[in-house]
Amino acid sequence: MSPQPTFSVDPWGITEHGLDLTGLARAESVFALSNGHIGLRANLDEGEPHGLPGTYLNGVFELRPLPYAEGGYGYPESGQSVINVTNGKIIRLLVDDEPFDLRYGELLHHQRKLDFREGLLRRDAEWTSPAGRTVKVSSTRLVSLTQRAIAAVDYRVTAVDGPIRVVLQSELVANEQLPGGGEADPRAAAVLEAPLVAEAGLAAGTKAVLVHRTRYSGQRVAVGMDHLIEGPDGFHVTAECAEDQGRISVTTVLHPGEELRLTKFTAYGWSATRSLPAVRDQVEAALTAARYTGWNGLVAEQREFLKEFWETSDVQIDGDVELQQAVRFALFHVLQAGARSEERAIPAKGLTGPGYDGHSFWDTETFVLPVLTYCLPDAVKQALRWRHTTLPLARERAAQLGLAGAVFPWRTIRGEECSGYWPAGTAAFHIGADIAVAAARYVRATGDAEFEREYGLELLVETARMWRSLGHHDAAGRFRIEGVTGPDEYSAVADNNVFTNLMAQTNLRAAAEAAARHQVAAAALGVDTEETAAWRDAARAMYVPYDEKLGVHPQADGFTDHQFWDFEATPPEKYPLLLHYPYFDLYRKQVVKQADLVLAMQVRGDAFTDEQKARNFAYYERLTVRDSSLSACTQAVIAAEVGQLDLAYDYTAEAALMDLHDLGGNTRDGLHMASLAGACLALVAGFGGLRDNTEHLSFRPRLPAGLRRLAFAMKTRGNLLHVEITHARTTYTLRRGTSITVLHEGEPLRVEPGRPASRPMAVPETPERCLQPPGREPARRQQQPGPSVGSGAEPPHLAAE
Ligand code: BGC
Repeated sequence: MSPQPTFSVDPWGITEHGLDLTGLARAESVFALSNGHIGLRANLDEGEPHGLPGTYLNGVFELRPLPYAEGGYGYPESGQSVINVTNGKIIRLLVDDEPFDLRYGELLHHQRKLDFREGLLRRDAEWTSPAGRTVKVSSTRLVSLTQRAIAAVDYRVTAVDGPIRVVLQSELVANEQLPGGGEADPRAAAVLEAPLVAEAGLAAGTKAVLVHRTRYSGQRVAVGMDHLIEGPDGFHVTAECAEDQGRISVTTVLHPGEELRLTKFTAYGWSATRSLPAVRDQVEAALTAARYTGWNGLVAEQREFLKEFWETSDVQIDGDVELQQAVRFALFHVLQAGARSEERAIPAKGLTGPGYDGHSFWDTETFVLPVLTYCLPDAVKQALRWRHTTLPLARERAAQLGLAGAVFPWRTIRGEECSGYWPAGTAAFHIGADIAVAAARYVRATGDAEFEREYGLELLVETARMWRSLGHHDAAGRFRIEGVTGPDEYSAVADNNVFTNLMAQTNLRAAAEAAARHQVAAAALGVDTEETAAWRDAARAMYVPYDEKLGVHPQADGFTDHQFWDFEATPPEKYPLLLHYPYFDLYRKQVVKQADLVLAMQVRGDAFTDEQKARNFAYYERLTVRDSSLSACTQAVIAAEVGQLDLAYDYTAEAALMDLHDLGGNTRDGLHMASLAGACLALVAGFGGLRDNTEHLSFRPRLPAGLRRLAFAMKTRGNLLHVEITHARTTYTLRRGTSITVLHEGEPLRVEPGRPASRPMAVPETPERCLQPPGREPARRQQQPGPSVGSGAEPPHLAAE
């Protein structure tokens, strides 16, 4: 196949030149469109060839049994897997007698472009059929950020020679055949064959609707399509419908230069409770609204939505155009994942692929929500309200485990625990604090007292109750939390994981404070002063282990006494270690999959001295293999804090390029949403030095030599604060709002409209670069030349999850 594709480096978009059949699945993730409600992988319009067809609806899943060779009490019996629902993207084209299939004939030109300001995926192709007929095809696809049920495509075919008889078949296809599972990687999704049972179908005129039901989870899914057709006089339209297929066909003859244009509107609706007519009508109504808005209207709404987003959320970088592109790519996909998720989860892959079975993890609250809090606070509120809707299930789970309050699932779609491996699932109790801390952050950033009273308080209270019952005061009065798994999944079921204990401490304190602010609501939840006093006591007495001999914090009790992993004897092809070594061996040695103690230093910097931060960072750098994509961003933040600016730059680039360069080798299964969000955190919390766990936003800006300027904006309490950092100074400007106080290097600064505040850059010490395990060093980020077009050269694969 020629020409071969490369992605151009362009600060506002991604362009693929040519078509690489072997890289199709990866491009389908990179170019995926979503609004958080529906998600379309970038499958070609004609359906084939494909890497992995994918159309996902947030919250639509199928149940599947979780069999255990040896069962145990409290093991979840049923898992939830995201399913590929009815595909509404397909527009097949017949050119005389030949299907437009890029595996055959000659592809003269193929280009796809995603522009982050437009939110449109544009495709242009010129192709000569095996019989020698040449056509130009162009399509523009969108998933509406303003009409959440709607996707649309503007599809045009032009005859280059002719006359050519063309047939367009616009389809809805349920139960598509999916490529088989392949090798047993626990991170990929279960392939569910034919998960949809037909309930109804109709086709008439230019419209078709299909209604299906999932076999076991009992969810009803309706999809409808309607079309506008323009072409030379005399085209012919037919409508057909079968159980798993709806089809509108358009036939005409095109003379050279003539065009046939099909505008396809697709609407999705789903429900576990509503009746068939109700879901079908919902879809038809959404279609009517989309037709009323029209294609141009949808495009204009999309632009308008994104204009406001970029005006208030852009992260600008001078000096590294590839990183600029990657961070906008990251922000764009984080936006797509959260924009309209509306009381549903934000999965680890967003709606870009079936990886991790479509589950949500702590990734959402720890990496994605901290970014969305300051650019799309409403999306954060919605995501936390979703957690709140799952509280009854979380309470049940706590009761099952013999605990008070609520235990949230490690991985889930609807709220039930879906992890079949309890040492890295149920035992990761920190998820409760991650949720609580995200809720507290949202309230601090927005001042949304109503949310706190109605939702946040209960999340805080139920998680505080869980901590109080999970931990205990020892004979010396210290509050200890034993037998838990922290973020690092190469250690499990350990005592007093520092991250967990510090997060639990924040959780307990925040619950007591929120209960004091909302006494009536707290009383309604059964909270009394005795209970809040117990939370405060536990928080005050929280035990944080420290290794006096080494002068570092063990990530959990005894960790620094363990034998070191033999890194020298671990060849590169044995990474990620989880695919090549037994967990029992990983668990008993000093080897770290992902930032754990280092993350504790980010989220609870107040609990460590500067010297401890530097020593801890150096210690854990030597042990951390980054087999998880959730690691580099955190390492970037702390590297920046301890003055290792070039190392921080390397990690920032790794987090940002995780999917554009497919560093983990699994972008095909979907994008790494936490790493993408993490790239933004690396810039804002790393080089910006943002910490947001006290009343005022606090900054300690630093810039690596490779960057000339970093600028970002944050929405907070009705203000829009703009921060611009150069090697000379940092300038805080209030673009909207009345006034704000920020801390710069610990000094309070009041910023008012029209009166920017500026401070010179502090000159940090430059300590010696820390070392990583051999072979696991991040790629060194070279200083970048000015704007250029794709280097083509790709860094080596890191093989991370
Ligand atoms: C990481 C977890 C993460 C999960 C989903 C795992 O590899 O270790 O921390 O939640 O992936 O992204």
